[in-house]
Amino acid sequence: MTESLALYRFDALADAALVHAVSTRLGGGSLLPTAGLNLGHTVGDDPQAVAGNHALLAAALGIPSGQIVSAHQVHGNQIAMVEQSDAGRVISETDGLITETSGLYLMLRYADCVPVLLYDPIRQAVGLAHAGWQGTLARVAARTAQAMVSDLGCRVEDLRAAIGPSIGPCCYEVGPEVVTATVAAFPDAPGLIKRRQANGHAHLDLWAANVRQLEQVGIDLIETAGLCTACRPDLFFSHRAEQGRTGRFAVILGLRPDRI
Ligand SMILES: [Zn+2]
Repeated sequence: MTESLALYRFDALADAALVHAVSTRLGGGSLLPTAGLNLGHTVGDDPQAVAGNHALLAAALGIPSGQIVSAHQVHGNQIAMVEQSDAGRVISETDGLITETSGLYLMLRYADCVPVLLYDPIRQAVGLAHAGWQGTLARVAARTAQAMVSDLGCRVEDLRAAIGPSIGPCCYEVGPEVVTATVAAFPDAPGLIKRRQANGHAHLDLWAANVRQLEQVGIDLIETAGLCTACRPDLFFSHRAEQGRTGRFAVILGLRPDRI
């Protein structure tokens, strides 16, 4: 409880106009099994501890917690465009958020699913997606990028993308039904399925599946953290590595308010 927060950041998103961070579990006040900086309200943690952790994270980033917008994530591919009137809200049944409002911060929560961060430094707009295997196959990351183009006027060639810490191909074993669905969704990318076993199980590369769909949309600059949450439950909450009894870390992404 005395250790300080540790936040992960991407080189591709290093820009004075942008606030972004991936939280780790270091530095929070939650106790086992959500030990550390748990930011999930629905994992059986003490609500006061969760609220305290949210306050710690906002303070570390220097942002007002009332300016954060989050979502009730459902492993779907619905995208919401949010604005100042949404500050403090939890958007229902949404796995992608986009905004052009400065001083408003998008936040989604993760414990193995893939965070996809999007930034347009020209148009000044951001997007954030939550992609587990269902969201990845439903192309929630590509749809978030496409919503930035259609709803916010971004040019796809200006977009930068970052793939956050999440379960890697080293640890993400899936059953035959997920293998079949992945091959159907990405028929031109056989490399997404690795280490096939006689029982039909295999390892799925969610990082590559998200990179692939962002490339197909036309994004060139994509940075992948390459950090597996299941390999590093000391740093991140991992649903798989901790058999579902764990917390949630967060990604926060937003445009700094205009300085006068
Ligand atoms: Zn791993």
